[in-house]
Amino acid sequence: MPVAHTLEGPLSVDVLGRQDPELAEILLGELERQSTTLQLIAAENFTSPAVLAALGSPLANKYAEGYPGARHHGGCEIVDVAERIAVERAKALFGADHANVQSHSGSSAVLAAYAALLRPGDTVLAMGLPHGGHLTHGSPANFSGRWFDFVGYGVDPESGLIDHEQVRTLARTHRPKAIVCGSISYPRHIDYAAFREVADEVGAYLIADAAHPIGLVAGGAAPSPVPYADVVCATTHKVLRGPRGGMLLCGSELAERVDRAVFPFTQGGAQMHTIAAKAVAFGEAATPAFTAYAHQVVANARVLAQGLAAEGLAVTTGGTDTHLLTVDPAPLGVDGRTARGRLAAAGMVLDTCALPHPDVRGLRLGTAALTTQGMGEAETARIAVLFATALRDESAGRGVREEVRDLTGRFPPYPAH
Ligand SMILES: *Cc1c(COP(=O)(O)O)cnc(C)c1O
Repeated sequence: MPVAHTLEGPLSVDVLGRQDPELAEILLGELERQSTTLQLIAAENFTSPAVLAALGSPLANKYAEGYPGARHHGGCEIVDVAERIAVERAKALFGADHANVQSHSGSSAVLAAYAALLRPGDTVLAMGLPHGGHLTHGSPANFSGRWFDFVGYGVDPESGLIDHEQVRTLARTHRPKAIVCGSISYPRHIDYAAFREVADEVGAYLIADAAHPIGLVAGGAAPSPVPYADVVCATTHKVLRGPRGGMLLCGSELAERVDRAVFPFTQGGAQMHTIAAKAVAFGEAATPAFTAYAHQVVANARVLAQGLAAEGLAVTTGGTDTHLLTVDPAPLGVDGRTARGRLAAAGMVLDTCALPHPDVRGLRLGTAALTTQGMGEAETARIAVLFATALRDESAGRGVREEVRDLTGRFPPYPAH
């Protein structure tokens, strides 16, 4: 290849090592951390070396404001093809009329959806943050809470399930311009048809923020919001296993509004290396191997939920349909924050999260990353035992840490080539 950079291995940091050992050390240190601890953060995954190769490519150098065939910069003829491929693959993967693959992140995609459909001051009905809504669903610290009038629905405190009666009542009372369905911690499938019905009744747009489950949708392991929502917002880096980024899906009648809401309304130049990496990830997600992966992610999450319940933790909704679950460690005598610390010391990395009972922080964990590493039900069942062991007894942490090191050593996320 007539370029000065080697594209051969995204994990080969030789070039960087010679030029900037200080930073090369950090890259290697992070690879070591990711490879020797268990990544149970529900939003994380390991992208393929092919995705990393696209991210680390000279497409990163290209300015490309606008859309394929209508750019504000010269020299876009090759990156235009990359974006067209990404769009076509996304449309085919999700059965959508239109896809916008330029959003820099999931939050940017949600911002664009609001920009396409709403005006400042409009009322929006979304899951309340204490129940699992995302920052972009009306947090006062976020543009959403500042520029729109959010009304929050919740989950039933006993069942942990979305209270559809409350959704309907709030919609009738507040007549929102849009209803948002989607969450950062809801472990069950979302009933998109039920949300569509309420939206139709009150004349609201339905926005599905499918940042978490979109990868399961791609693999046929979760219902698709595409037939129901006016606009679907998503990330490409969670279960979908692509580069960090966002995307939007919609019908052809909203296509132009959505595109204009991304560029020029809320973003400048598209990041062509990321868009190429999204295309690579969509290509991977269209394979039978990814379908098998998505189903294994859910099977592993179910085993993890059963295992943790058997160890005495309180599993929200009694289980999961997806890649994620939330649990209350209180029955083992620790609160969420203490639990997160003990687990981190034992080599298990995860987040705290809101639980259906207000004021209690629980733990959110997911199986997307460990399933990419090739772990199955046997390993996941063992992880549940290690998890509870580390929680019950701080002094057991060291032993658990060794077993985690051994387990991750047998399932390296990036096997040495
Ligand atoms: C992850 C997530 C987002 C935001 O994604 P970022 O890429 O972090 O901006 C938005 N909404 C929901 C429901 C999410 O889970």
